[in-house]
This record gives sequence, structure tokens and C-alpha cells, in this order.
Amino acid sequence: MSEEFDLIVIGGGSGGLACAQRAADHGARVFLAESGRLGGTCVNVGCVPKKIMWNAAALAHANHDAGDYGFDLSPGRLDLPQLVARREAYIARLNGSYEQNLEKRRIEVGRGHARLTGLGQVQVGERTVAGKHIVIATGGQPQIPSLPGAELGLSSDGFFALQSLPVGVAIVGGGYIAAELAGIFSGLGTHVTLVLRHDRLLRQFDAMLGDDLMKIMRDEGTEIVTGANPAALARVAGGSSLRLTLQDRRELGPFDAVIWATGRSANISDLGLEALGIRLDAAGHILVDAYQQTNVPGIHAIGDVTGRAPLTPVAIAAGRRLSDRLFGGQKDRRLDYDNIPTVIFSHPPIGTIGLTEEQARAKFGDQIKVYRSGFVPMYHALTTRKPRVGMKLITAGAEERIVGLHVIGAGADEMLQGFAVAVKMGATKRDFDDTVAIHPSSAEEFVTMR
Ligand code: FAD
Ligand code: NDP
Repeated sequence: MSEEFDLIVIGGGSGGLACAQRAADHGARVFLAESGRLGGTCVNVGCVPKKIMWNAAALAHANHDAGDYGFDLSPGRLDLPQLVARREAYIARLNGSYEQNLEKRRIEVGRGHARLTGLGQVQVGERTVAGKHIVIATGGQPQIPSLPGAELGLSSDGFFALQSLPVGVAIVGGGYIAAELAGIFSGLGTHVTLVLRHDRLLRQFDAMLGDDLMKIMRDEGTEIVTGANPAALARVAGGSSLRLTLQDRRELGPFDAVIWATGRSANISDLGLEALGIRLDAAGHILVDAYQQTNVPGIHAIGDVTGRAPLTPVAIAAGRRLSDRLFGGQKDRRLDYDNIPTVIFSHPPIGTIGLTEEQARAKFGDQIKVYRSGFVPMYHALTTRKPRVGMKLITAGAEERIVGLHVIGAGADEMLQGFAVAVKMGATKRDFDDTVAIHPSSAEEFVTMR
């Protein structure tokens, strides 16, 4: 006989934990299965260790800039093993606090790989549990191109295991992870070669952002190779370094390390989805409707495994809203996937929400108006490094509603959240104009654009 729960959650990452805890707060009896470390990708090999490394690179930049401000500082040497040990100790504390939060709410945790064995039934190790509702929150994993020698390269998981910094690294890919790891390595003194198969970094965002970031990266010594489709990775004869061959036969390297930052795929292997007829999209993500419901009644999916805006706060918000709907009596509660703000923690960071200029033009035609600003922020008036700030506001219609807001530059990461509230509320250019500026800041440009 299997034990009966109100809810079984598969995956104890950002989405699964949030969903399970909210359900328990509503009084549901919850079982959560986790095969790895509590906290999932974000806490263990994603946002958290990444932000620590981003901070370290920001400190290296600040150390350099301090000389320009008149400080007599010798360049600091980074003790990477010490930084990694402190970072991992912090993560272990977070893992522990997740465990305590689950205990406090009497959520039962099953350790091991979980799979669906029938409608409303899940097997975890030797144990079988039954639930009225099942939520699949199994996240994703790095996707490595299948080409000869690919295994010689590292994924973002491998990046977090590094105990020493390579002298030269190639990063293949042009999305979030490529931009972020390139900034970290470069800030910490590694020579970076960025390998893009198209001609621009961050192609999924407004063109200004990728163009500006590429310029800043090149100014700071990063090499960017475009139109570069990898064909093979191999060790240089008699050495440990690596050479990357492209499909057009160009050879890049040697490098001490190569990082694949070529996207992520959904964790769906051996989950029992096929037997239950759960539908997937062409890329292998679980298909859900606006209420996170799969095509099989009683089975829901949230977070990266659905492929919809794969970000931690999205997984959390979807999970909480689903539990509010299933157990909190809020029958229409669901996540609105429009206007999700996002930050790329490059150096400098990027903040973006809403439509790109291209998307806005396709949607509204001549009804759009674009405001731009570009400048060297005051902080860099005194420094030898001169990374510029780039800003863009896109408005639509006679009332000039803000439909896109994009910024690259120091402070963009902390700047975006407040503007995101305004955009989500339907702010117009006039609302921005009517807001008094904060001076001296970079953010003030958003309310003074003409
Ligand atoms: P996950 O957090 O991946 O959790 C899934 C969990 O399910 C895992 O713990 C896994 O072990 C478990 N699991 C899988 N299969 C099974 C099974 N069969 N049985 C039991 N357990 C299973 N997002 C941001 O918003 N901001 C950032 O700055 C950011 N930085 C990132 C940096 C990197 C390098 C990476 C890789 C990602 C980053 N992300 C960031 C994305 C973010 O980590 C994910 O969007 C988020 O973790 C998704 O949450 P999730 O719950 O869907 O999945
Ligand atoms: P992205 O989808 O952002 O980017 C993948 C990149 O890989 C694209 O630039 C793509 O190129 C390139 N690519 C794909 N296949 C190949 C190939 N075979 N050869 C060469 N290049 C290839 O994925 P990431 O892995 O960077 O990040 C995964 C997700 O994790 C992100 O979408 C994001 O949601 C989340 N994340 C969020 C962060 C944050 O919030 N700050 C930070 C890190 C990750 P092309 O552009 O040419 O198509």
C-alpha cells in the first residue's frame, strides 16, 4: 500500500521548494522528492555561486579603479581556493536552512531519483507514494554540443569546480551564461576568447545590449570570434591545452580550458512521462497551459522543465501561485509571463524588460517611439576604464506607454526592479517625465530622456 499525500513535488529546486512550502502553509500534506542537493541549480550551481564570483570580479575592477582615485594599492592576488571554500560553506548553510524550513512545515522529503509509475503514483528509491496532485519541478542541465572531444570542455557546473584560474579560456555560446562567465574570467585576469556562432552576443535581447557589451568586452581585452561553429575539440599533442576546430576549418587556441555555454535542456530522463502520455515540446520541455497544467489531469509542471522564462523568480512565482490555486482557494491564480524583468550579470550588468525595438516595431509598426541615451557614468570620469552606460526606452501609441526598457551599465542590476514595477503597471513616458530625478545617478537618465 502506498502512502497518500495531497501533493507530491518532484525536484527540490527553486520552483519545487516554493510550491511545496506554499502548499504546506495552506494545510496540505506534502511529499517532496530530491535526487541531489536541496536548492537545485540556482543555489548550488547557478545564481548564488555565480553572484559570488561576479562580486569577486567587481572587487577586482574596483581594486584597479582605486588607483585612479588616488589610492596607493598594490594589485591584490586572488586566493581562489579560499574564495571557493567560503562560497561553498555559504551554500552549505543555505542547503541546511532549506532542510529546516521543510521540517518546520512537516514536509516529508524522499531522497533519490523519482519517477511517475502510474496516475497519482511516484516511486522514489524503494518507496512508492500516492498524491492527488503531482508537480514536476525537475529543472534542467547544461546542454553540450555532440562533437568529437566535447567531453574535454567544461559546462557551467565545471566552472564552479575550478580550483585555479586558467590563463586563457574559450567560452562557446552567446547567451546569459557565456556573457556572465566571460565577465567573471576577464575581471579576474584570465584572457577570454568568446566564440559566437552568429555575429552578436545576447541575440535574444535588444540589439543595443549585445552590441554595447561586445564593445566594452573588446575594449577590456576579450577576443570575440564570430560566425564560429565548433566542429571538434582536441588536446594539443604532448600537452594539456586544448584547440577548438571550427566547421570552416579555422583553428582556435591553444586554451587552458574551454567552456560550453550552449544552453540547457530539461531534466526529463527516466521520469516515466512517456508511459503516462505527458506531452513535450520539440525541445523536450513539458508542455503546460496557463495554469501549469500538463495534458494529464492532476499532473502539473513548473520552472525550467517547462522551458518558459527559465529564471529562479519565475519558477518560484509559478510554484507559489499553483499551490495558492490548488490548496488556497484562489481558483484563478496563475503567473502572468508578460513583462518579466531580467538581469544579465555581465561586467557591466544588463537590465531588460519588455519588448526589444525589433519586436515593438513588428507589433506596433510606426506607433513606436524610441528614446536613447549613452554616456560615461560619473564614477568613470576619473578612471582609465571607460565602460559606457547605454539606455533605451521604447514607447507605443499616442499615450506613449512604455513597452520596453533596456539598460547596460554599472548599477543596471539594482536599477531595474523599481522600473519593472512601473512598466508592469502600464507606466507612460509622461509618468516617467513627471518623476523627479535623483542626482547624481545613472538611473536619472530614464526620467529625463528627450
Ligand atoms: P532546479 O533549480 O534546477 O531544480 C530542479 C531540482 O530537481 C534539482 O535539485 C534536481 O536535483 C532535482 N531533480 C531532477 N530530476 C529529479 C528526479 N527525477 N527526481 C528527484 N529530483 C530530481 N536565474 C536567475 O533568475 N538569476 C540568475 O542570476 C541565474 N543565474 C544562473 C546561473 C547559472 C550558471 C545557471 C545554470 C542558471 C542560472 N539561473 C539564474 C537559472 C536558475 O538557476 C533556474 O531558472 C532555476 O534554478 C530553475 O528552478 P527549477 O526549480 O525549475 O529547477
Ligand atoms: P541561452 O539560451 O541564454 O544561450 C545559449 C547560447 O548558446 C546561445 O547564444 C546560442 O547561440 C548558443 N548555442 C546553442 N547551441 C550552440 C552550438 N551548438 N554551438 C554554438 N553555440 C550554441 O543559454 P545559457 O546556457 O546561457 O543559459 C541557460 C538559461 O539559464 C538562460 O536562458 C537563462 O534563462 C538562465 N540563466 C539566467 C541567468 C540570469 O538570470 N542572470 C544567468 C544564467 C543563466 P545563438 O545566440 O547563436 O543562438
